[in-house]
Amino acid sequence: MGPKRMMDRRQAIRLTAGLGAGAMALGSLPVLSGCAGSGGRRRPNILFIFSDDHACHAISAYGSRINRTPNIDLAREGAIFRNSFCSNGICAPSRAVILTGKHSHINGKIDNANMFDMSQPTFNKMMREAGYQTAMIGKWHLRADPQGFDYWHVLPGQGSYYNPDFRTPEGTMRHTGYVTDIITDLTLDWLQNGRDEEKPFMMMCQHKAPHRSWMPGPDHLEMFEGETIPEPDNLLDDYTGRAGPASRQEMTLADHAYPAYDLKITPAAADNERDQNMWRNLDARFTDEQRARWHEVYDPRNEEFRQMNLTGDDRVRYYYQRYIKDYLRCIASVDDNIGHLLDWLDESGLADDTIVIYSSDQGFFLGDHGWYDKRWMYEESLRMPFVARWPGVIKEGTTVDHMIQNIDYAPTFLDAAGIDMPADMQGESLLPLMQGHRERNWRESIYYHYYEFPAVHMVARHYGVRTERYKLIYYYYPDDRYLNGWEMFDLERDPREMNSVYDDPGYSDIRDDLKIELRRLRTHYNDTTGDDFQ
Ligand code: CA
Repeated sequence: MGPKRMMDRRQAIRLTAGLGAGAMALGSLPVLSGCAGSGGRRRPNILFIFSDDHACHAISAYGSRINRTPNIDLAREGAIFRNSFCSNGICAPSRAVILTGKHSHINGKIDNANMFDMSQPTFNKMMREAGYQTAMIGKWHLRADPQGFDYWHVLPGQGSYYNPDFRTPEGTMRHTGYVTDIITDLTLDWLQNGRDEEKPFMMMCQHKAPHRSWMPGPDHLEMFEGETIPEPDNLLDDYTGRAGPASRQEMTLADHAYPAYDLKITPAAADNERDQNMWRNLDARFTDEQRARWHEVYDPRNEEFRQMNLTGDDRVRYYYQRYIKDYLRCIASVDDNIGHLLDWLDESGLADDTIVIYSSDQGFFLGDHGWYDKRWMYEESLRMPFVARWPGVIKEGTTVDHMIQNIDYAPTFLDAAGIDMPADMQGESLLPLMQGHRERNWRESIYYHYYEFPAVHMVARHYGVRTERYKLIYYYYPDDRYLNGWEMFDLERDPREMNSVYDDPGYSDIRDDLKIELRRLRTHYNDTTGDDFQ
């Protein structure tokens, strides 16, 4: 899709939302961006594109076997971080870590339910004070109104895929259309018409997609039709070889996916009132045209499913296909829309002065271990995509293998803006790594701590350490022996984490070393939360 389509969409948004009618012609923009920083260096713009639940193994630059993401692969023009990890693999806590540069136990946002203290220092507040224009558009998920932004336009909570409401300083408004397109259009509108062109910008463009319930946009409803997406080799995992929590979760495609809500098998197969209600809530948001189009595509699939009468493993395999195709269709919209943003940067002449980063709040299980969702310290949800482009500063084709975490984002943004990092931030700037410097004193392990239990999906509380080759996880929960215990994985021999070697005598020395390292990390990051271990 080219610029023509982009303009059509922006005009449509103006009509529905009543946004300002600025100049529409592309290519007529003044070519202005950051003014000189204190050191005389030109301060770059930052376009931080962020999505929700986008696993690395659904990005072609990371070697996806199941889809192509040509625009996210902008990594090829810059840097790809191959060992990028979250510190608490769930939506709102990951965002709080990114804003503050501090682990969850320090910034206080340990799970999706508790409140984030918006009064604490965040990177965007510091950038704004230092002369950056700051904007936040899309999924925010921290309940309290955003602070430290010149402009914000955010989804309430998780937001809706179709015709979403947005919270703004002026109140709530609804936009007609598909959420990924709308967030992009609002981003383009602010970049083109809303900002102060004398100042550099920090734009946070944050997508809802591809978060559950994976509703594809009108442009991609039929993508992958008639194709079979490769299955993960552990789709039918039986959880032997691991501690108790893996078999006690509630996130399998087999037993915990709602047919109507998660798989769009509606309405006849949604045989209970809960599923019917879930679907009614999604369906109620469609316009008549959107609803007709949806049913035109999904009704024949559902009829076919009903006639197949699948049971057992065959039903799980079918559910996987339904789930993964919708998930990947949502990503296709994200990727297309990133293409629009990159096109605009080129056309406006800002590409050379703008750092573009793509990341997502944590990874996701794409049928791996039979699961959807995230939360675990296992690789698929622990890994976060992180790619960056900065022409003239980051060399094309840069690959970074150092272990990074979302605590590093705020220090990186501040460093790029020429702002000193506060001493109590817990991450490190990634700029030297982006520029290909081999940082000799870089961390050799990362720390993880997940808290949200008991809660949806029932993933036990755990913390742990990951090194280049090994991972040690400690599960703790009082009064339930199945939700306590240790796991240890040799990621070189067992990259899918199917067999814990915690009790293997051949690994006892390594296990003891990992415990010492875990103790050191808890002290280093000052984490006194959770049961301590012996
Ligand atoms: Ca998420």
